[in-house]
Order: sequence, then structure tokens, then C-alpha cells
Amino acid sequence: TEACLGAIEGAGKLNAFVHHTPEIARDQARAADARLKAGDAPAMCGIPLGIKDLFCTKGVASQAGSRILEGFKPEYESTVSQNLLDAGAVMLGKLNMDEFAMGSSNETSVYGDVVNPWKIDERDLTPGGSSGGSASAVAADLCLAATGTDTGGSIRQPAAFTGITGMKPTYGRCSRWGIVAFASSLDQAGPMTKTVRDAAIMLAAMAGHDPKDSTSADIPVPDFEAALTGDIRGKVIGIPREYRMDGMPDEIEALWAEGRRMLEDAGARIIDISLPHTKYALPAYYVIAPAEASSNLARYDGVRYGHRAKLAAGDGITEMYEKTRAEGFGPEVQRRVMIGTYVLSAGFYDAYYNRARKVRALIKRDFDEVFDQGVDAILTPATPSAAFGLGEMAEADPVRMYLNDVFTVTVNLAGLPGISVPAGLDAKGLPLGLQLIGRPWEEADMLNTAYALE
Ligand code: GLN
Repeated sequence: TEACLGAIEGAGKLNAFVHHTPEIARDQARAADARLKAGDAPAMCGIPLGIKDLFCTKGVASQAGSRILEGFKPEYESTVSQNLLDAGAVMLGKLNMDEFAMGSSNETSVYGDVVNPWKIDERDLTPGGSSGGSASAVAADLCLAATGTDTGGSIRQPAAFTGITGMKPTYGRCSRWGIVAFASSLDQAGPMTKTVRDAAIMLAAMAGHDPKDSTSADIPVPDFEAALTGDIRGKVIGIPREYRMDGMPDEIEALWAEGRRMLEDAGARIIDISLPHTKYALPAYYVIAPAEASSNLARYDGVRYGHRAKLAAGDGITEMYEKTRAEGFGPEVQRRVMIGTYVLSAGFYDAYYNRARKVRALIKRDFDEVFDQGVDAILTPATPSAAFGLGEMAEADPVRMYLNDVFTVTVNLAGLPGISVPAGLDAKGLPLGLQLIGRPWEEADMLNTAYALE
């Protein structure tokens, strides 16, 4: 804990931690020492973690990277962070993120951009998003692991950009209670760690049924670590042909082929598969996620939480609401609210939202069919490129940024587990990730395959 606190002090330039809690960390570390001495050492005992700012942490600022939650200190702890604390973990502080988890570059945060510890020619690169602070902090050794959340790739894409492991569990594996909602039918918390083994240990501590979240599943949490035997002989790994996108860089293609070879060498059987509705996933995601977000964000009204705009004489409740939201939400969040309310509006509901829901069902069915054919896991690249420069994409149009999520959003739409593991460097020396997609509730098996790839 002391080593991490020191490292955080010296790494201000990364802008990864936004609320430091050294006193809390030291108290928790002392309590962990006492538990160790007493011979009661749970899995996460004394492990210093960073917590994404999206998680409500009792008495500690929790702003979801947004101005509108300025000054908000929750009265309660999210179930996932409480589970980690119960397992002996130490909280070092809160981690920067894209505002309300909307973004793929960590450039939409009220706290400013997060910097990737990897560089080329001294140029600052994005760590990816929205869990960019978590990724940067783990990659730079500011903490041993961090929590992330993944609605469309926000754990896996930043993990790939920073050379760490990031895992999104099956929807319902971790409780969403106390995590600021972005798109409730897609959001899942997960571990961001240095290794697959760490991911297995941390996931076991985070997961579990929670009566406070009606979508949390009452399914036993297996011992994920015990599943890491490295033996994947006879496993069937699918390579989806639709993920071979036009214009995919050669090095991504080469990385994918290398991953395929490694799994084959370890005794897995590789087969070509088809997921025919893949090309509709991004448009469906960028209808469904903003629709749910526009509804979830309606609660930020200047009354219940955080920021309230200064009002002029004669302003009524409507002006308070409008001014607060205009000041409190950044441009990307406003864009999502506008898209979301548009696709849900009476005249367009069937054409956009309802159609996107039908596409989602077809995407889910594509996966069900390949799993029914006996496929154990699916191998794809995690991202279409390595980390890009800060400012580079944000200045282009938002749709270019959205294209970053092309390999990850399908997994959220279908509610499946997915993991990104570091898989080498590109020609410029930047990390790249490979993604494995598993069967629902079979994270243990997926982690074991990832372990063989590591
Ligand atoms: N980049 C995607 C978005 O902006 C995914 C974000 C996430 O997973 N939270 O919606």
C-alpha cells in the first residue's frame, strides 16, 4: 500500500487517480495486516486497488467523471466494492474515466484526459476508455488491480491499449447496485489486472448474487483460480469470419493468426464460424445504449445530487433543470441524451429503438447457434488498432470514435463474458490485445483458455 501511495504521488501526469484516499488505504491495510496475523486472510487481503469513479464509495466523492455530480459523496458503498473490501482489499482512491462511461479514449472526463503510460516519441497517447484511469493505473504500477465497467468495451479496449488484462463477466455475474448506471441492460463490472490469474481471483471476490439488483443472477460463483490448469486440449475455438473487417491493419491480422496458432499448439481445435449479424452490432449498440442512458440520466436534475446552476431572478424549476443539465453534462453526454430521446420518441421508436432490439436478439441468436455447435470460445482481436494519440480521434467526427468498439459491443449486446489479454506489440512498439468470448456463465473455462494464451 505504501509503495502504491508513493507511486501515485509521482504519477500525477497520468491523471489516473482523481480522488486519493491515503488515510482510508492505511487503515484498511492495517486491518488487513491484523487479519493476516490472525490467520484469517481472504483472497484479496491487503491488495491495494483503484476503484473506477463510477462506483459509489461510502463517504468518498463519486462523480462518474461528471461535473453534474460535483460534491456527491454517497451514503452507501456499491455491492462490488463492498465485496472487495470484505475480501480484505485496500482502496487507494478513485480512478478517472470518461464522463458517465461514455467514450473510448478517456477524453470526456471533467477531470481532463488520462495519459497512457506507453508512449511513442514522447507523444501522449490515450489509454482507451471509458475505464482509462483504471487501465493506466494498473499498467503504470500505481495499484495491483482496479475495477472497471464495460457497457460496450470499456474494460477490454483500455486493457488492450495499455497491455493489461481486462475482463467483462457474463451479464448478471456482478451486482450493478451502487454503480452509476449508463445503459442498464449492458453494464457489467469486471476486473482489470496484470495477469489472468489475478483476474480470476479478483472476479471471484467481486461476483455473487445480490438481492438489491434484480438482474444479478442467483448462480454459484465457482473457484475461477482453480480452473486455471492451462489444459485446453480438445477445446473448440471459433474464428468468426465477419470480424475480418475491410481495411483491418496487417498487424492486427498477424496478431490474430498468432493467437490462433498458440491455441492450436496448446491442443485446441480451431474452426471457422459465422456470426452473420455482426455488421449491425455497432449501429444497434449506438441506439440502445443512448436510449437507456437518456432515461438513466433523467435523475440529474439539480435537486437530488451534486451540481445546481446559479439561477437568475424569476427562474423557475424548468430553468433550473435546463441550466443545470446544460452546465453539468459535457458535450458527449449531451449528444447521447439527444440521440437517446430521439430514438425513443413516439414517431421514431419503431424505426430505431424497436428495430435495434430486434437486431440485438439476432446477434444473441448468432452466438447461441455457434455455442450449440460445440464452440467453447471465440477468438477475435480486441481492438481495430493500437492506442492512438490524445486529441487525434476526438477532433475527427464522433462516429470514428464509435468504430473503436467494433469487436467489443457484440459481447455486451449478447450478455456474454469476454476478456482481452495482452498479445504482443505492434510495429511501433505499442501493446495489442486479443479477445476471447466465452459461453454464458462459463467464465472459468474462458479464463483457462485466456491463461493458455497469456
Ligand atoms: N465506447 C463505448 C461507448 O462510448 C463503450 C463505453 C463503455 O463500455 N462504458 O458507449
